[in-house]
Amino acid sequence: MSKGKVLVTGASGYIAGYVVKALIADGWSVSGTIRSLAKADAVRASLGLTADQLPLTAADLTSDAGWAEATAGCDFVQHIASPLPTGVVKTDDDLIVPARDGALRLLRAAKTAGVKRVVMTSSVAAMYYGMTGQHQTYTEADWSNLTSPATGAYAKSKTIAERAARDWIAAEGGGMEYCTINPALVLGPVLGNDFSGSLLVITKMLNGELPGLPAISFGICDVRDIAAAHLSAMTTPGIDGGRFLCSGEYLSMADVAAILKSRLADKAKRVPTMKLPNFLVRVSALFDAQVKLVLPELGRTRVGDASHARAVIGWNPRPVAETIVDTARSLIAAGLVKS
Ligand code: NAP
Repeated sequence: MSKGKVLVTGASGYIAGYVVKALIADGWSVSGTIRSLAKADAVRASLGLTADQLPLTAADLTSDAGWAEATAGCDFVQHIASPLPTGVVKTDDDLIVPARDGALRLLRAAKTAGVKRVVMTSSVAAMYYGMTGQHQTYTEADWSNLTSPATGAYAKSKTIAERAARDWIAAEGGGMEYCTINPALVLGPVLGNDFSGSLLVITKMLNGELPGLPAISFGICDVRDIAAAHLSAMTTPGIDGGRFLCSGEYLSMADVAAILKSRLADKAKRVPTMKLPNFLVRVSALFDAQVKLVLPELGRTRVGDASHARAVIGWNPRPVAETIVDTARSLIAAGLVKS
């Protein structure tokens, strides 16, 4: 017998795919939303599921249509859909409006449907950006500074959406519970050819598309462990309002390249070894808007403290080298890396 009914929004997405699989494996009845039903067969095929196992409803974050139908009869919602850009966006609102208004549409529909708890995928991007001074270690107490020019469009969209959702819950939630998972950079095996922008860093390294290694570092987490965090946040009692920063080890691009080189030998032959001096990256940024996006990260340290997630929802991430190697092997197996 099913444990209950869960809606996963943005079921076509990378993290959502793993959340769907983890929920079904744990005995839940799962349904999903996607922007257009034209993608339904491909989404189910990538997850190895039938239409009975994964009913899908069309719902776009920018429109009211579909949200009432999608949430009807659900006990829980995993709200994961939100735009994740792979490059420069035209205006900040291209990300902010769907992220914020979509979260509010989902919350209103969920409350009407009598949903018990909504788990929303926020991000460390809602915590890490625009601080003054030498802020280096981040926790759930931190919020990105929306007035700083160092806070980019994506970080703004995640910060504004999470704040708007929390404000709405406080004012209108009427007892519906809410918490967020705030992951760092999510890597791990791909489920199909349509994978998240977060994997581009590994794909570009393996394909020899990076001239060298800029002095940029990030916390890494595994998509399988992030799916587990979403499940725990849905079922752990007494965590209404919780905010869970999920970040594994903090590695530089040079560390990631070294892991790929040492574990994949010839398959990592295009992975660069040369470290790029900061001045060269700054000069490149004058001509390349994508490089400009990473300038605020040059030489910065942003370590996420995941001890709250470990203690409260039992988050227990695997070693990051395993994640990096599994990511690379799956990209190679999917034919997404030059041979
Ligand atoms: P993804 O594969 O690009 O998934 C994004 C999902 O959002 C897709 O299903 C996409 O639908 C959907 N979406 C985007 N705009 C939409 C709209 N206007 N209406 C309806 N659906 C829309 O990326 P992901 O890595 O799985 O990201 C999922 C969530 O995790 C996002 O909230 C992201 O901010 C968060 N997150 C990701 C990372 C990371 O490193 N990957 C880290 C922290 C937080 P389509 O398939 O139709 O485009």
